[in-house]
Amino acid sequence: MQRREDLPFSDRIRFLTGRVSLDFTHTGGEGESARWEIVHTPADLARWLGVILSVDGLSAGPADLAAMRPLRTAITTAARSLAVGGGVRAADVATINAAAEVPPLVPRLGAAGAGVGFAAPTPAAALSTIARDAIDLFGGPLAERIRICASETCGLLLVDTSRPGKRRWCSMQRCGNIAKVRAHRQRA
Ligand SMILES: [Zn+2]
Repeated sequence: MQRREDLPFSDRIRFLTGRVSLDFTHTGGEGESARWEIVHTPADLARWLGVILSVDGLSAGPADLAAMRPLRTAITTAARSLAVGGGVRAADVATINAAAEVPPLVPRLGAAGAGVGFAAPTPAAALSTIARDAIDLFGGPLAERIRICASETCGLLLVDTSRPGKRRWCSMQRCGNIAKVRAHRQRA
Protein backbone atom coordinates (compact mmCIF):
# COMPACT_ATOMS: atom_id res chain seq x y z
CA MET A 1 0.00 0.00 0.00
CA GLN A 2 1.34 3.38 -0.95
CA ARG A 3 0.13 6.73 0.36
CA ARG A 4 0.70 10.29 -0.75
CA GLU A 5 2.78 10.96 2.31
CA ASP A 6 5.14 8.09 1.43
CA LEU A 7 5.94 9.52 -2.00
CA PRO A 8 9.09 11.55 -2.67
CA PHE A 9 8.24 15.25 -2.79
CA SER A 10 8.83 15.35 -6.56
CA ASP A 11 5.83 13.00 -6.96
CA ARG A 12 3.82 14.15 -3.95
CA ILE A 13 3.65 17.69 -5.36
CA ARG A 14 1.09 16.39 -7.89
CA PHE A 15 -1.31 15.32 -5.19
CA LEU A 16 -1.58 18.30 -2.88
CA THR A 17 -4.64 20.07 -4.33
CA GLY A 18 -6.92 18.75 -1.59
CA ARG A 19 -9.36 17.51 -4.25
CA VAL A 20 -9.09 14.03 -5.70
CA SER A 21 -10.49 15.20 -9.04
CA LEU A 22 -7.72 17.78 -9.48
CA ASP A 23 -5.04 15.43 -8.18
CA PHE A 24 -6.23 12.99 -10.83
CA THR A 25 -5.64 15.55 -13.60
CA HIS A 26 -2.02 15.76 -12.48
CA THR A 27 -1.35 12.19 -13.60
CA GLY A 28 -1.02 13.26 -17.25
CA GLY A 29 -3.24 13.70 -20.25
CA GLU A 30 -3.31 15.18 -23.72
CA GLY A 31 -1.62 18.27 -25.13
CA GLU A 32 0.13 20.29 -22.43
CA SER A 33 -0.62 17.66 -19.79
CA ALA A 34 1.18 14.91 -21.74
CA ARG A 35 4.50 15.91 -20.19
CA TRP A 36 3.16 14.74 -16.81
CA GLU A 37 2.02 11.31 -17.95
CA ILE A 38 2.58 8.59 -15.35
CA VAL A 39 -0.30 6.29 -16.31
CA HIS A 40 1.08 4.12 -19.09
CA THR A 41 -0.30 0.71 -18.13
CA PRO A 42 -3.31 -0.70 -16.26
CA ALA A 43 -0.97 -1.38 -13.33
CA ASP A 44 0.01 2.31 -13.29
CA LEU A 45 -3.68 3.21 -13.23
CA ALA A 46 -4.36 0.92 -10.26
CA ARG A 47 -1.34 2.31 -8.43
CA TRP A 48 -2.12 6.00 -8.91
CA LEU A 49 -5.85 5.66 -8.25
CA GLY A 50 -4.81 3.86 -5.07
CA VAL A 51 -2.55 6.74 -4.05
CA ILE A 52 -5.05 9.48 -4.90
CA LEU A 53 -8.03 7.82 -3.20
CA SER A 54 -6.15 5.95 -0.45
CA VAL A 55 -7.64 2.68 -1.60
CA ASP A 56 -5.92 -0.70 -1.43
CA GLY A 57 -6.40 -3.77 -3.56
CA LEU A 58 -7.37 -2.14 -6.87
CA SER A 59 -6.55 -4.03 -10.02
CA ALA A 60 -7.15 -2.54 -13.47
CA GLY A 61 -7.31 -3.84 -17.04
CA PRO A 62 -6.92 -2.29 -20.49
CA ALA A 63 -10.63 -1.32 -20.57
CA ASP A 64 -10.20 0.68 -17.36
CA LEU A 65 -7.26 2.52 -18.88
CA ALA A 66 -9.38 3.33 -21.94
CA ALA A 67 -12.26 4.53 -19.71
CA MET A 68 -9.96 6.69 -17.61
CA ARG A 69 -8.52 8.80 -20.44
CA PRO A 70 -11.63 10.69 -21.65
CA LEU A 71 -12.71 11.34 -18.05
CA ARG A 72 -9.30 12.72 -17.14
CA THR A 73 -9.29 14.91 -20.24
CA ALA A 74 -12.81 16.21 -19.48
CA ILE A 75 -11.96 17.07 -15.87
CA THR A 76 -8.67 18.68 -16.91
CA THR A 77 -10.28 20.78 -19.64
CA ALA A 78 -13.09 21.88 -17.32
CA ALA A 79 -10.79 22.74 -14.40
CA ARG A 80 -8.36 24.70 -16.54
CA SER A 81 -11.17 26.60 -18.19
CA LEU A 82 -12.75 27.48 -14.82
CA ALA A 83 -9.32 28.58 -13.56
CA VAL A 84 -9.19 31.29 -16.22
CA GLY A 85 -12.82 32.35 -15.79
CA GLY A 86 -14.28 30.18 -18.55
CA GLY A 87 -17.11 27.66 -18.48
CA VAL A 88 -17.38 23.90 -18.85
CA ARG A 89 -18.08 22.50 -22.31
CA ALA A 90 -21.24 20.41 -22.73
CA ALA A 91 -19.22 17.44 -23.96
CA ASP A 92 -17.08 17.51 -20.81
CA VAL A 93 -20.17 17.83 -18.60
CA ALA A 94 -21.61 14.74 -20.29
CA THR A 95 -18.39 12.73 -19.85
CA ILE A 96 -18.12 13.62 -16.16
CA ASN A 97 -21.80 12.91 -15.49
CA ALA A 98 -21.60 9.55 -17.27
CA ALA A 99 -18.64 8.45 -15.13
CA ALA A 100 -20.53 9.49 -11.98
CA GLU A 101 -23.55 7.31 -12.83
CA VAL A 102 -21.64 4.18 -11.85
CA PRO A 103 -21.77 3.34 -8.10
CA PRO A 104 -18.79 4.96 -6.34
CA LEU A 105 -16.33 3.42 -3.90
CA VAL A 106 -18.13 2.16 -0.81
CA PRO A 107 -16.31 2.99 2.42
CA ARG A 108 -16.14 0.34 5.09
CA LEU A 109 -15.14 0.73 8.69
CA GLY A 110 -12.40 -1.70 9.63
CA ALA A 111 -12.02 -3.53 12.93
CA ALA A 112 -11.30 -1.24 15.87
CA GLY A 113 -8.25 0.86 15.07
CA ALA A 114 -7.99 -0.41 11.49
CA GLY A 115 -9.46 2.76 10.04
CA VAL A 116 -11.48 2.95 6.85
CA GLY A 117 -11.20 0.73 3.81
CA PHE A 118 -13.36 0.14 0.76
CA ALA A 119 -15.61 -2.80 -0.03
CA ALA A 120 -14.48 -4.63 -3.21
CA PRO A 121 -13.06 -1.52 -4.92
CA THR A 122 -13.02 -1.41 -8.73
CA PRO A 123 -11.43 1.12 -11.08
CA ALA A 124 -14.89 2.10 -12.39
CA ALA A 125 -16.02 2.86 -8.83
CA ALA A 126 -12.81 4.81 -8.23
CA LEU A 127 -13.40 6.86 -11.40
CA SER A 128 -16.99 7.46 -10.30
CA THR A 129 -15.75 8.77 -6.94
CA ILE A 130 -13.40 11.11 -8.80
CA ALA A 131 -16.15 12.25 -11.19
CA ARG A 132 -18.47 12.95 -8.22
CA ASP A 133 -15.76 15.04 -6.60
CA ALA A 134 -15.43 17.00 -9.86
CA ILE A 135 -19.21 17.57 -9.93
CA ASP A 136 -19.14 18.83 -6.35
CA LEU A 137 -16.17 21.10 -7.07
CA PHE A 138 -17.23 22.48 -10.46
CA GLY A 139 -20.85 22.94 -9.42
CA GLY A 140 -20.14 24.62 -6.09
CA PRO A 141 -18.70 27.88 -4.76
CA LEU A 142 -15.11 26.61 -4.90
CA ALA A 143 -15.27 26.50 -8.71
CA GLU A 144 -14.30 30.17 -8.61
CA ARG A 145 -11.32 29.32 -6.45
CA ILE A 146 -9.67 26.91 -8.87
CA ARG A 147 -6.36 28.38 -9.99
CA ILE A 148 -3.27 27.52 -11.96
CA CYS A 149 -0.06 27.91 -9.96
CA ALA A 150 1.45 31.35 -10.59
CA SER A 151 4.88 29.94 -11.36
CA GLU A 152 5.42 30.14 -15.12
CA THR A 153 7.19 26.80 -15.14
CA CYS A 154 4.74 24.87 -12.94
CA GLY A 155 1.24 24.55 -14.37
CA LEU A 156 -0.27 22.55 -11.48
CA LEU A 157 -3.83 23.32 -10.39
CA LEU A 158 -4.88 24.33 -6.90
CA VAL A 159 -8.05 25.21 -5.04
CA ASP A 160 -7.69 28.31 -2.94
CA THR A 161 -9.66 27.61 0.23
CA SER A 162 -8.00 30.42 2.18
CA ARG A 163 -10.33 33.06 3.55
CA PRO A 164 -8.74 36.02 1.72
CA GLY A 165 -8.54 34.02 -1.51
CA LYS A 166 -5.06 35.18 -2.42
CA ARG A 167 -3.26 31.88 -2.68
CA ARG A 168 -1.03 31.78 -5.76
CA TRP A 169 1.17 28.71 -5.48
CA CYS A 170 0.58 24.98 -5.76
CA SER A 171 2.77 24.62 -2.70
CA MET A 172 4.70 27.06 -0.53
CA GLN A 173 7.29 24.33 -0.15
CA ARG A 174 8.08 24.46 -3.85
CA CYS A 175 6.85 27.28 -6.09
CA GLY A 176 6.07 29.69 -3.23
CA ASN A 177 9.58 29.34 -1.87
CA ILE A 178 11.26 29.67 -5.26
CA ALA A 179 9.35 32.92 -5.83
CA LYS A 180 10.23 34.20 -2.37
CA VAL A 181 13.93 33.49 -2.90
CA ARG A 182 13.83 35.16 -6.32
CA ALA A 183 12.12 38.26 -4.95
CA HIS A 184 14.69 38.42 -2.18
CA ARG A 185 17.57 38.22 -4.69
CA GLN A 186 16.05 40.95 -6.82
CA ARG A 187 15.85 43.23 -3.81
CA ALA A 188 19.43 42.46 -2.74
ZN1 LIG B 1 3.57 25.40 -8.64
